[in-house]
Amino acid sequence: MIMNLHTHTHHSPDAGQTVAERLREANALGLQFMAVTDHVEINRYYPAEYYGKEETDEYWYDGGGVFERSAAEIMQEQKNSGSVRLLCGAEIGQIPQDPELSARIYNDPRVDLVIGSVHELPERPDFYFLDYEKEDIPALVTAYFEEVYRLAQTDCWDILGHLTYGLRYLPNRRAYDLTPHLELIDEIFRTVIAKDKAIELNGSGLRKPQPYIDPDLILIKRYRELGGKHLTISTDAHNTQYLGFGLWLLEDMARTAGFTELTWFEKHQPRKVAL
Ligand SMILES: [Zn+2]
Ligand SMILES: [Zn+2]
Repeated sequence: MIMNLHTHTHHSPDAGQTVAERLREANALGLQFMAVTDHVEINRYYPAEYYGKEETDEYWYDGGGVFERSAAEIMQEQKNSGSVRLLCGAEIGQIPQDPELSARIYNDPRVDLVIGSVHELPERPDFYFLDYEKEDIPALVTAYFEEVYRLAQTDCWDILGHLTYGLRYLPNRRAYDLTPHLELIDEIFRTVIAKDKAIELNGSGLRKPQPYIDPDLILIKRYRELGGKHLTISTDAHNTQYLGFGLWLLEDMARTAGFTELTWFEKHQPRKVAL
């Protein structure tokens, strides 16, 4: 197994186990590279009191604190990571809502890589919490890709996280026709490519009863056709049992899309590894 560059630990409000436990499993799987990328929702970087709010299941606060605790544990474990190269990362949500705060994490000298993700639209809850019965779904998906395009135009990220997250919780996700969005998706890819950054093949959907990947193979192929060079692979594991889940399949898909190498990041510098 080559890599899993998107994983969460007990520092993320929706995940469990320590960095050390993830590392034990990573060594057992024979992973070459693993990044710990705990959640930092940049629009809630400070503790809830700062915003005069209370923490709920829908809204996690103190992303800055999560990052500090996570990075400290990663630094500790890097001294003893066995045959796995442990990378220090963060998954920053909603970067366009606060690029300056995002830069604070991106420029932290400990950080190898940042995943930039859109989990929610401005003033809306995470896509996970939307009531899709009440949504105008094509308009919602358009707004999602527009927000990803806004993200792609910012700088403080290395890997564009789970493109198509905005589709993830649709009632019939696999049947949704992306055709009307392909032009905008091309623009997103062109922006990623011009910035010499990466997209990821995120396999968290492989654990679902109707499995999918974010993004689909057809989009990975399109990215490659447009000149995309940097691809990472991840399971977005929130639990140790999913650290290696479907990695072989994701590697296979990357090859099918025409990739012969994957990318990892050392202090934001893209590095290649044979696929
Ligand atoms: Zn995410
Ligand atoms: Zn994640």
